[in-house]
Amino acid sequence: MSRTIIVSNRLPVKISKEESSFTLKVSEGGLATGLGSVYKQDDNIWIGWCGTEINDDEEKAQVIALLQKENLLPVFLSEEEILNYYEGFSNEILWPIFHYMSTYAQFEQKYWDYYQAVNQKFKQEVLAIAQPGDTIWIHDYQLLLLPKLIRDELKDVSIGFFQHIPFPSFELFRLIPWRAELLNGMLGADLIGFHTYDDVRHFTSSATRSIPVHATANIIQVADRNVLIDAFPMGIDAEKFESLSKDSKVQEEIANYNEILKDSKVILSVDRLDYSKGILQRLMAFEKVLTDNPEYIEKISLHMIVVPSRDSIAQYKELRDDIDKMVGNINARFRTSSWHPIHYFYRSFPVETLVALYSRADICLVTPMRDGMNLVSKEYIASRKDKGVLILSEMAGASKELADALIVNPNNLGEMYRAIIQAIEMPEEEQKSRMLALKDLVNKFDIHHWVKIFMDQLADIKVAEGIRK
Ligand code: UDP
Repeated sequence: MSRTIIVSNRLPVKISKEESSFTLKVSEGGLATGLGSVYKQDDNIWIGWCGTEINDDEEKAQVIALLQKENLLPVFLSEEEILNYYEGFSNEILWPIFHYMSTYAQFEQKYWDYYQAVNQKFKQEVLAIAQPGDTIWIHDYQLLLLPKLIRDELKDVSIGFFQHIPFPSFELFRLIPWRAELLNGMLGADLIGFHTYDDVRHFTSSATRSIPVHATANIIQVADRNVLIDAFPMGIDAEKFESLSKDSKVQEEIANYNEILKDSKVILSVDRLDYSKGILQRLMAFEKVLTDNPEYIEKISLHMIVVPSRDSIAQYKELRDDIDKMVGNINARFRTSSWHPIHYFYRSFPVETLVALYSRADICLVTPMRDGMNLVSKEYIASRKDKGVLILSEMAGASKELADALIVNPNNLGEMYRAIIQAIEMPEEEQKSRMLALKDLVNKFDIHHWVKIFMDQLADIKVAEGIRK
């Protein structure tokens, strides 16, 4: 029987070591839940890095045995590999270029050497178990070379690739010295998915302009194969957020917030620490709201959660310092003896607390400079009963679907300022009609729908290829 193999940089688990034995916790994140319907079935499997460095052979065997029970197979990576392939090539070249921050890119030859070597390592793991007739679904920018590496050795497999971050316009992408190799790597797949049609267009244009391939609409011909490039906007586990919002413990947390915050208007923002998220620009807009509208003093507050991330990279450390300074300045400037405008948290929270905050927040302010999709915007909607206002950057993939949000350009301070005022003052009836339309969308196009349409499309291609042969 043919099997489906999922491959991603990280496995959906957290492994911890207590004394000499390992324990693992399987992630309950949206992607892991959605793909659960695939990798947990039959002989299917998910291959990826286990998240910690393990060198001892006996310990490796222990971890393999633990993971096997969950249909997971680890790739073991050394500290050097993580440093150069993951932090280096993936996060200091691909991440900034794909998010239009080209000046942050560090084009180190060593990073590229490791990126190729680790993609080869993943290939070995896949080839050790893949058989003709299998379906392989590869995820994200850390593994752009993998589709071709597998295709070159195993012809009769169906390969899907999905990129969770944006694909930039050709003028950005062309800056990468190894652009042709990356494109050829991706084109080893039969189906390449992105969140939006803009990403599809950018990829197709980069491919036809950088390497000798021909495209008709969204099909690229590579030698004797057709590769379909399409948009699959990713959804969330909407049901989970809706049911959590009714959970008694979450209700208790909401009641606590209500007690502390009384009837003041709460604006919420939730991001990983990243320069793509537009955190400083958002703070500027909030500051302008307080400066120009003193009547809002003590009546509104911004709750800002920033989840620590990649803080070994210089630009991330700098950003953290800048946020600290700006929050400090705004709080010092506007605070009164019983109120301060910004509640800033630099840590992560359990999903129950997030849902309580989503439920209490009158406004969710999501203003990235660039974002592949942005799941926070969808989680806010799924956690709402009927009211609430989402302010959403047009640079987030989610803005292509969530048209009933207040859509803003995060570079336009005036527009963000006006959107915040509009959200504070929005009549309840308008809030309801916008939010209910948004909820319909988020419920209908959830993570299960996303997995299904991608897998169905891949299966259809396999059938069509069979007919062509
Ligand atoms: N998140 C979390 N804990 C927190 C704050 C956020 O697990 O304390 C999650 C949040 O629920 C969301 C994800 O982090 O699912 C962020 O995803 P998004 O697409 O918005 O941005 P990314 O970090 O992937 O760029």
